[in-house]
Order: sequence, then structure tokens, then C-alpha cells
Amino acid sequence: MKKKFYVTTAIDYVNALPHLGTAYEKIGADVLARFKRMMGYDVFFLMGVDEHSQNVARQAEKHNLPPKEYCDDMAAKFENVWHSLDIQYDRFIRTTDSDHIIAVQELFQRIYDNGDIYKGAYTGWYCVSCEHFIPEKELVDGKCPVHKKEPQWLEEQNYFFRLSKYQQVLIDHIEKNPRFIEPEIRRNEILNVLKGGLEDISVSRSTETWGIPVPFDNSSVVYVWFDALINYITGAGFASDNQRFSLQWPADVHVIGKDITRFHAVIWPAMLLAAGVAIPKQVFGHGFVYLGGEKMSKTAGTALDPVSLAEIYGPDPLRYFLMREIPFDRDGDFLMEKYETRYNADLANDWGNLVQRVLSMVKKYRDGLVPAGMLDSSHDIVAEWKLLHDDLIKSIESLYDEMKFSVVLTKIWQMIQLSNRLVEVQAPWSLYKKDNASRELDNTLYALLEMIRVANILLYPVLPTICKKIQHQLNIDTDFAIEEAAQLGILKAGHSLGEIEPVFPKTKDK
Ligand SMILES: [Zn+2]
Repeated sequence: MKKKFYVTTAIDYVNALPHLGTAYEKIGADVLARFKRMMGYDVFFLMGVDEHSQNVARQAEKHNLPPKEYCDDMAAKFENVWHSLDIQYDRFIRTTDSDHIIAVQELFQRIYDNGDIYKGAYTGWYCVSCEHFIPEKELVDGKCPVHKKEPQWLEEQNYFFRLSKYQQVLIDHIEKNPRFIEPEIRRNEILNVLKGGLEDISVSRSTETWGIPVPFDNSSVVYVWFDALINYITGAGFASDNQRFSLQWPADVHVIGKDITRFHAVIWPAMLLAAGVAIPKQVFGHGFVYLGGEKMSKTAGTALDPVSLAEIYGPDPLRYFLMREIPFDRDGDFLMEKYETRYNADLANDWGNLVQRVLSMVKKYRDGLVPAGMLDSSHDIVAEWKLLHDDLIKSIESLYDEMKFSVVLTKIWQMIQLSNRLVEVQAPWSLYKKDNASRELDNTLYALLEMIRVANILLYPVLPTICKKIQHQLNIDTDFAIEEAAQLGILKAGHSLGEIEPVFPKTKDK
């Protein structure tokens, strides 16, 4: 049986369309999911939207729509954004989906039955934008430190979750399984939070109606965060498909932004433990994409729209830029100038030109047929390329497991640069004219074709559309398995190449 791999991303509030930072997360998860499929895993990739938010209800009101209708419209728009970035998820979950409502009520009931949800009164400062209470000591000049808005003084009869009970269990778990939270900086933050002690949290709202009713008390709805986190088990079949759930859960990784690590690495595992459900294997809190050093913000007008960026060169170059330029565990900067440079230097020049030149030479000098040659290691450049190849094949899965997409791309580019050097050093156009150089020309072209075939497989998670085009030009039928990139010498002599077309037009069609 195939090994399973279950990856999720944060589900986003539907009250504003995703900006580039949101897209960065989804692209990272998509790259990982594609890679795991190429490794032969049975991958399930879950994405979705978080609809039971008061901000969503308010936006709906502004648009004069019932919340569900507003969400239907926004959810469709979100999916369009993800499709335009070539993100290939297996399910797009909405927290208004019927199986999710069942899952939330089931988990809430189980925790209640186990004694870790109880009724109590809560008073405190509540930020409507954060959608949670803010401890008095965290207010700045009486305002929410994130939204710079005055919170409301709220008093509610609520259900509480006994989070405090899980402090030591979670500390022990993280210390025994350090990879539970990545990267390390996030792990240390969470350990500090845990060591500072946990307070019970309110997990219902009696003053609101837009939400999932508490199963045994219809006068309250489940708190939006409590509801949202449960989407990860809904997606695996919890409470609706037990057989699938037993195969798919726990998640292999929750890919989320660093700002919500606390919810995912403290509250979420505690909820699961309280219900007797296994906890996820890993929570990965990625960094932020800044715009010229500033945090992107819709309200400040500094949020970049990923769809219009993808329209400039297509989705693949945008995916490449984000994965190459901004290491997933850190913050990074988006600059149009850098984007153009990466496009021209890396994609159009290093990679696109290599493919076009080599394929054209095979057409011209060998009638478009793969010559009977070999990857001759007695040639220094070929030998060096093989070393890089073997090293990358050996380390690629652990690099992906650590979300080191940028490192993988850098290594692939070292290989591509060696291929370009081989073209320059061997100068096939001279070999073609030289006497007795036919064998050397065959070996050179063969080595270059193999190098292109291998790089094209390795680049597939990041450049899916481009790689499919190049695959057609090589006229090979591949399902982009890493296994095929590991093996060398797969191209057969006499194999006929397809039509050659440039895949990275130099001129921008804006
Ligand atoms: Zn706030």
C-alpha cells in the first residue's frame, strides 16, 4: 500500500481576497504536495475558507446579503485565485460544509463529555477584528496591539475549554518531539508561552448567531477559532467517514503563518487530546512576505494581488520567485525589480535558453533524434554534474520535509549552470564542423538532453505548466516521478523530439 501524506494550509477568512502573503503559503504547500506525489505518496492536500467569523457577517451585511450567500460568492472567488496560481488541492473545505458542522459538534460534545468543557462567566476586553479576548496587560494605550482599535468590554456566559490542564502534556510532547513545531524559532516561542502557563479559554459565544450551534445548547455558537481548527479533521473524514479518518489522520503537516502558531501548536493539540484524538505530526509556521520591507496590508493599500502578478509572466515564474527568493522558514521581501531579474536571468536565460539551444542543436545536427551517446564521466563537467545530481537525489526528500524549497532550487540551478557550461566548453556547433568529432558530439548532446530531462522533473513541483511544455518538446511521457530523475540514461537513441518552442518569452506581454 502507498504511504499517505496529508498536508493542510490555514483556512482564510473570506471577508477579503487573498494577498501575495496568503498565496505564498498555498504555493509552498502545493510545491510540497506535488513533490510528495512524485515520491509515490498517496497525498491529500486540504485547503479552504473560514466562514463563521463576525467580520464575515459584517461584510455580508454591508453587501446586503445573508452571510451564507456572501460566503458562497467569496469562496468561489478564492478558488479562482488558487486555480490561477496552479494550486492543486484535493479538497477545498468551507466551514459551512455539512460534514464540518457534524465534525465540530462531535468534537465539542466529546470534550464536554470528557469534562474539559464547562460553563462559566467571562468578562474581558474583546477585539472584534482579532475575534478573541485580549489580556489587559497586552493592550497598548487601551487598544488592541494588532488592530490599534479599542476593544469592547464583554461579559458573557460561555463554555470554557480546560486548556490549563494541557500545559505540561504539551511541553513534554514538544520536548520529546522537537519537530512537532518548525522552524526552531517558533518552537521556542511556543515553549515560552507554555512555560508561562495557560488559562482556560472561552469556546462559545452567546451573543452571536452566525456560527455552528453548540450541540447541547442552541443558544450559543461555537467560537470561530475552535470551529476553524477542526476543519483539519473534517477534511480527513472525522465523524463522517471513520475508515478514511483512521487512514488519513494525523496530518503530516499543518502549513500556517507564524502569527497563528499558538492556535495550532497549543490550543489545537490540546483540543484533540481532550477528545482522545491523535495530534498532528507537525505544525510549520512560515514567515511573511513583505513589500519593500513593509508588512502587506489591505487597509494601507500595500497588499499585492497575486493574480495580477501571475498575469505578467504566468503563474510558474511567480511560484519560482517566491520559493527561490524567500526561504520558507523566514520573512522575505517582494520587489518587482528582483522579480524581473529572476525571471530574465534564471528562467528565461539559464533554463529557457538551455532547453531551446540544446533541442535546436539536436534538430539541426541529428535530425531531431536522440543520438547514441552517454553521460561520459571522463568529462569534468559531466562528472561534477553527476556528483550534484547524486547528492540532490539523496537529500531531496529531507530538504522538502524541512520545507527548504529555496535550497532545492539553488541546487538545481547549480546543475543547470553546469549544463550551460558544458554547452560553452564543448561548443557543439564546432564539433559538428570538425572531422572525427561525431562521437563527441553525440555524447555532448546526449548528456545535455539527459541533464534537461532530469532538471525538468526536479523543477516540476515549482514550474508545473512550464515543465509539461518542455516534456512535450522532449516528446516523453512522464508522470514526473522522482524515481525517473534518479535514474540516468533513460533517453533512448533514435527517440524523436517534439516541436520546439520557447517557453519563457523574453519580452513581457503585460
Ligand atoms: Zn485586534
